[in-house]
Amino acid sequence: MTSAYDVVVVGGRVAGASTALLLARAGVHVALLERSRLGSDTVSTHGLMRAGVLQLSRWGLLDDVIRAGTPPVRRTVFSYADGDRVQVSIQPKAGVDALYAPRRNLLDRLLVEAAADAGVDVWHGATVSSLIDGPGRRVGGVSTRSARGAEVTLNATTTVGADGIRSTVAQHVGAPVLTAGRTASAVLYRYVHDLPAAGYEWAYGVGAAAGLIPTNDAATCVFAATTPARMRRLRRSGSAESAFSTLLAAAAPAFVDRVRAAESASPLRGWAGLPGHVRQAWGPGWALVGDAGYFKDPITAHGMTDALRDAELLADQLIDVLGGRVPEALGLAGYQQTRDRLSAHLVAATEEVAAYDWDAHRARALVRRVSSAMSDEVDHLQSLPARPASRLSPAVVPDRTERHRYDGAVPKG
Ligand SMILES: Cc1cc2nc3c(=O)[nH]c(=O)nc-3n(C[C@H](O)[C@H](O)[C@H](O)COP(=O)(O)OP(=O)(O)OC[C@H]3O[C@@H](n4cnc5c(N)ncnc54)[C@H](O)[C@@H]3O)c2cc1C
Repeated sequence: MTSAYDVVVVGGRVAGASTALLLARAGVHVALLERSRLGSDTVSTHGLMRAGVLQLSRWGLLDDVIRAGTPPVRRTVFSYADGDRVQVSIQPKAGVDALYAPRRNLLDRLLVEAAADAGVDVWHGATVSSLIDGPGRRVGGVSTRSARGAEVTLNATTTVGADGIRSTVAQHVGAPVLTAGRTASAVLYRYVHDLPAAGYEWAYGVGAAAGLIPTNDAATCVFAATTPARMRRLRRSGSAESAFSTLLAAAAPAFVDRVRAAESASPLRGWAGLPGHVRQAWGPGWALVGDAGYFKDPITAHGMTDALRDAELLADQLIDVLGGRVPEALGLAGYQQTRDRLSAHLVAATEEVAAYDWDAHRARALVRRVSSAMSDEVDHLQSLPARPASRLSPAVVPDRTERHRYDGAVPKG
């Protein structure tokens, strides 16, 4: 069967659900396709920085995160290998007086449900296998298989790849890599109970970093990270548990007794590490958002925040492009330019942090650089117009296509 949309978004987590939500609130006809279940977890810790919290607040979703029991984070504590310990309070600014680290099975679900409420046709269990050609060498939509096994073609004026690091959309359009990273973190993390954290606690030790992230269900996420080569050596010569203990001791000696005294609430989860990339973010009939277009190492805990940022940068341009007010090439080039301008310092600093060859002095300088890049990002988002928290009426995009709503079951997860 065939359906027609203004925009088909592939990938239904932070980047994709947010983009779909903002487009639908502006009256754009959107389908959101996600291969996993609604509310499933993913391999990721989940500390949001101020810009990410600001986005949730501006979109009217922060209260839902708080109501779900996500604890406020009111300070960040940095520890370094020379014993220096710096505590920074979260100053009320831009309507944000605390940070939050909602679990992904909570945040991603809230975003998808908000998108569905705004009118997005949401399909879970739908894996996009290929893109289809549109008129004049444009991408014209996607082919997917629904959870029930039916082959479905979705025509769309624009296809958005929000399908993560190994983006199918990026591969199919051959999106060029503009910047390729060289460094990467391998990470082990788990959830524990009875480990009160002072807020976000980040530690930069000897060739390793670690952190504590307070989250839902009175749990704290504890992670330890190092180079992929060192992680492989440690795991081969022992186990994931012994590697985790060794890295915690190297990165954050002060965490060791606290973690030992805590009650484990999950198995260890691992991430082997992958260098970052910045890809060309658009072409005729397609755009990339989130990790699909721009992935940096998780050690600076900024991927979700940037996905929330870029969802709005892209949605704003697409609304104008689809509404016929701005040519596609101009609007989407503007999206990429702003994304890259706001990301450049974060990318460079993250690349260095993920090299794990710093001393305490250099680690402090890198933390300052990340912090300054984060301020630029917040300033930019604050300068954007306020967003309506519900669907606009009438639609901003003229009704140019003949539309067929898929009525075969999957909407709303
Ligand atoms: C170990 C680790 C720790 C991290 N910690 C943090 C942190 O503390 N803070 C932070 O901000 N960021 C963190 N990140 C980064 C963060 O996880 C990502 O930046 C973020 O998930 C990007 O969101 P996204 O929506 O772009 O992609 P994803 O979350 O990867 O979502 C992409 C979705 O697309 C779907 N998909 C893929 N292909 C298809 C297809 N063909 N058809 C249909 N669906 C498809 C996938 O199922 C997936 O659900 C961490 C990452 C890792 C690996």
